[in-house]
Amino acid sequence: MTRRIVMLPGDGLGPEVMAEAMKVIDWFNGHFSANLEMAPDDIGGCSIDRHGVPLSETTLQRCRSADAVLLAAVGGPKWDKVDYAVRPEAGLLKLRKELDLFANLRPAKVFDALVDASSLKPHIVRGLDIMIVRELTSGVYFGEPRGIEKLANGERRGVNTQVYTTREIHRVARVAFELARKRKNRVTSCEKANVMESGKLWREEVSALHQAEYKDVELSHMYADNCAMQLLRNPSQFDVIVTDNLFGDILSDEAAMLTGSLGMLPSASLGGIKADGRRAALYEPIHGSAPDIAGKGIANPLAMILSVAMMFRYSFDMMKEAELLEKAVENVLGKGLRTADIMSDGCQKLSTLDMGHAIILELSALKQSKMAVRA
Ligand code: NAD
Repeated sequence: MTRRIVMLPGDGLGPEVMAEAMKVIDWFNGHFSANLEMAPDDIGGCSIDRHGVPLSETTLQRCRSADAVLLAAVGGPKWDKVDYAVRPEAGLLKLRKELDLFANLRPAKVFDALVDASSLKPHIVRGLDIMIVRELTSGVYFGEPRGIEKLANGERRGVNTQVYTTREIHRVARVAFELARKRKNRVTSCEKANVMESGKLWREEVSALHQAEYKDVELSHMYADNCAMQLLRNPSQFDVIVTDNLFGDILSDEAAMLTGSLGMLPSASLGGIKADGRRAALYEPIHGSAPDIAGKGIANPLAMILSVAMMFRYSFDMMKEAELLEKAVENVLGKGLRTADIMSDGCQKLSTLDMGHAIILELSALKQSKMAVRA
């Protein structure tokens, strides 16, 4: 079965890191008959330059009919003065909205070799492996009414509305429970049920779904402010955290910083399961287009490559391949090979291209050693 991936390199360092992801996919096509078809396309600033819009209808349609979308990054100073509605970032927001990608998965994993890159003490973050599931298409960023109005007394009043429905809560909580079953089987649901009605509803609905369908998963509830504190105090207590759009925005960035490096963190955004059994999905590193280092050949391609591993796992059910790729990344770091952003004393500094090459070599070595063990 051939799977079609729309590849969106975007802007800045995007094409550089995407090129390494493509080599990795090629390797799996060659060594595992993965049958992954790569279809490059435009998004962001490069799409504005070529098509006048950050996301064309044609590209959107291709993404809709693809098995998965892999994106690097969009944006850059060249388009900073363009009208907000047609900025590069608007293309990405439109893609997420049109594909109805309601669950954002942000793993925060600390590789042993990079434990010193965290701003927390090594004994607190060693072995850390958390998955934050953030609701992405509702809540206070989308709720109505919203706006700024002028009051009769001359003051101004700003309003945003936090809104969640049963369906919106259930579908994202379901993603979290399913993920937990494949991990350590624990979900922590975060809101502010103590002061917000929408938080009370969130807690009740997550509990109801748990009772009805996921009793085997260990569920706990935590106020979001306490969760922010616990992430710094004892992050290893968490397995899967599920939370709303606003709290998820903040908590996932906090968790990302526990790992110490932007260039290492992948993400996935998932939609509902369609009639044909497939799920809309977008995979991307959490970093931006890094205009300060773009074109210098020094970008870290590992967040992009780890996004490929997430795609293997969550879109294609290629579990062994995902594990192999993550192991290759771990081993390469373990050998002291580093790009500039994660460089430390005694390690060897690699270019983007050389890091991609090191991953391919490691994949081949791992495959060889597995075959040798079987023989
Ligand atoms: P950024 O993530 O691009 O860069 C922040 C810092 O991290 C920079 O110093 C950069 O050099 C470094 N960095 C990022 N990725 C790296 C990598 N793979 N390897 C090594 N170093 C890396 O964030 P920013 O500077 O705030 O934004 C730059 C542009 O990217 C802006 O136009 C912004 O709108 C856009 N952006 C896009 C996305 C996206 O496409 N999802 C996300 C964030 C920002």
